[in-house]
Amino acid sequence: MKENKGRLFILSGPSGAGKSTVICEVLKRNPSLHFSVSYTTRPPRPEERDGAQYYFVNRSDFEAMIARNEFLEYTEYVGNYYGTSRPKMEAYLNAGTDVLLDIEVRGASNVRAKIPEAVSIFFLPPSFVELERRLRARNTDHEEKIAKRLQTAREEYEKARCYDYIVVNSDVNAAAREVEAIITAERCKMANRLYLIKEE
Ligand code: 5GP
Repeated sequence: MKENKGRLFILSGPSGAGKSTVICEVLKRNPSLHFSVSYTTRPPRPEERDGAQYYFVNRSDFEAMIARNEFLEYTEYVGNYYGTSRPKMEAYLNAGTDVLLDIEVRGASNVRAKIPEAVSIFFLPPSFVELERRLRARNTDHEEKIAKRLQTAREEYEKARCYDYIVVNSDVNAAAREVEAIITAERCKMANRLYLIKEE
């Protein structure tokens, strides 16, 4: 007896909330999870590799993908496009693999409209002061971009109430354990385990 479909976990939170570090930790400890790699027109940061954190493409390639309807959703965020590949996402879910999707709040709401059974988690940094400190420590954005990211973060906080779970990231290990607990609880839900009690 086998469960057929994978579950989708949507992870959002302001950039600088430490979401990516926590996601990395969760993936390291749980190799059966798949991270959905988005497409973006943002230039790669020094530590980023094409195909790992993102597929880095130019605007005209991204717009050609929009025209071919290849995105489950896409958005423009702080001046760059970000989008989730529909065929890749469907392939993993159909193969029964649980997928983590790191996505901002508008994208999350578009995905929830299309995949209502998706489970959503919002990451909060311990405080706004800490968020600002982390964005500056990253040292990759100009002052204007940092101000824009902070402003966007304030707007995103308001959307946290639309999510199923909130994880406060004061410590990477503790936050990763909370995400794992959510994933485990979702896997154990009766509705997700009906296949175990049904006759073949
Ligand atoms: P960053 O530039 O810091 O990597 O990401 C900026 C924001 O874009 C983050 O909030 C991240 O969650 C979001 N993001 C990443 N990939 C996607 C995507 O495919 N679609 C949408 N809508 N947002 C995304």
